[in-house]
Amino acid sequence: MKVDFSRNFIAGAWHEPSSPATLPMIDPATGKTFGQIADSTEADVDLAVKAARKAFDEGAWGRTTATERGRMLARLGELILANAAELSAIEARDTGKPKSVADADIVALARYFEFYGAAADKHHGETIPYLTGYHVGVIHEPHGVTGHILPWNYPAQMFGRTLAPSLAVGNATVLKPAEDASASALRLVELAAEAGFPEGAINVVTGRGATAGAALASHPGVDFMSFTGSPEVGQIIQKLCADHYITCTLELGGKSPQIVFADADFDAAIPVIVKAIIQNSGQTCSAGTRLLIEKSAYDAFIPRLVEAFNKVRVGSPEMDRDCGPIITEKQQKRVQSFLDKAKADGIPVLAEGTIDPGADANGFYVVPTLLGPAPRDNALARDEVFGPVLTVLPFEDEADAVQLANDTDYGLVAAVWTRDGARQMRLVKKVRAGQVFVNCYGAGAGIELPFGGSGKSGHGREKGFAALHDFSKTKTMVFNHG
Ligand code: NAD
Repeated sequence: MKVDFSRNFIAGAWHEPSSPATLPMIDPATGKTFGQIADSTEADVDLAVKAARKAFDEGAWGRTTATERGRMLARLGELILANAAELSAIEARDTGKPKSVADADIVALARYFEFYGAAADKHHGETIPYLTGYHVGVIHEPHGVTGHILPWNYPAQMFGRTLAPSLAVGNATVLKPAEDASASALRLVELAAEAGFPEGAINVVTGRGATAGAALASHPGVDFMSFTGSPEVGQIIQKLCADHYITCTLELGGKSPQIVFADADFDAAIPVIVKAIIQNSGQTCSAGTRLLIEKSAYDAFIPRLVEAFNKVRVGSPEMDRDCGPIITEKQQKRVQSFLDKAKADGIPVLAEGTIDPGADANGFYVVPTLLGPAPRDNALARDEVFGPVLTVLPFEDEADAVQLANDTDYGLVAAVWTRDGARQMRLVKKVRAGQVFVNCYGAGAGIELPFGGSGKSGHGREKGFAALHDFSKTKTMVFNHG
């Protein structure tokens, strides 16, 4: 199947955009342009929102039962697995991910549709004991039309993460993928039609954030927004939503700590800590970007971490190394600027991975780098780099570890490495994060696990049953039956 990436998918059909303007699709592993997507306008977004509105208010979609929606979601999960090789290839070329990582992303994508397909008719309401002669029921209703703005780091997985729960509860959806990685969404919406989703249930409009994205978040026909991306744009989205009195889920990134105590199982911790930062070239909101190490264990732990980090290999999707290039030249320069500044600040480089000599010199590669110890007020200790850069920060004791772990504006994920059970529980309670892993780490893992942050990491919860709550609203019914 040859997908035409230059059109939008609106009301169940491919739609010529209102403007001939396009945006290039660039292969991060070579820097070469391999296609064009539509640079959609406000008019295209308006059509998509109206198509979703019609599907919800008058169309076949608005009349579906939860069981029927569950079947469609499950069928889409099956079609994703049946077309996994093609989808993985599309995703790898668009993002530069190693082949095996793209393969795993497609399996995770299918899991979102399997999970929410099975969950669709299990999101039940409740009754509440009230006054004598009264019956009170609380039901969950869809918002109506939900808008979805995606990032470029996990485009296929994000299609499932944000759309599957919204569709499961019955919303009609409009999705704007990231302009730097829109390909998989355009193929997936075709598969969704094949899975039986009626016209208008899923609409996809490509384009730039400041135009198509802003048009979606500010559209009066949108009832709820789901956004994943930078904190700066998250604030813009929240303000646009406030202008028309709707709420939103914001998933905005992190500066997640790996907290290693002297009594930890180093053999278990080291490979997990390395993977948690190099996975997807560090372009993961929940990447473990700060290594907090107890000072008394520094000399025993760091040389072993250095040895493992030095083995990291970087290459093209086909080479299938530990990680691939950065998504765009702009992001590559941004990550490199963090490294240049850190070196200028005198932060020692402890270890570096290796870019495969066969990798294209025009690809957007960055050398994975382990640095430290870094001063606590340095940008590397506080700001999201969004690249394969791990920063070492030593701490004195448990109280200092908690203080340091919470010493950023973010609060998404954390890991605690210790054999002391009581300390594990104390840390879980005191660390500011939406997910805390103990003696393990799952950057982005677990479709079943509620996920989300606080502070600059955003708000609202995705994944698990929590997402069904966020994508719906309650209605309380009070009957006086005498
Ligand atoms: P971004 O926030 O600019 O883009 C994310 C999405 O928002 C894209 O679809 C984009 O088109 C859209 N967008 C941009 N401006 C918009 C606007 N004014 N109104 C509506 N939508 C808009 O992210 P980026 O520039 O691609 O990446 C910059 C930084 O963001 C990264 O370095 C990283 O720190 C962070 N980021 C985080 C995640 C995450 O998973 N939390 C994902 C991608 C990027």
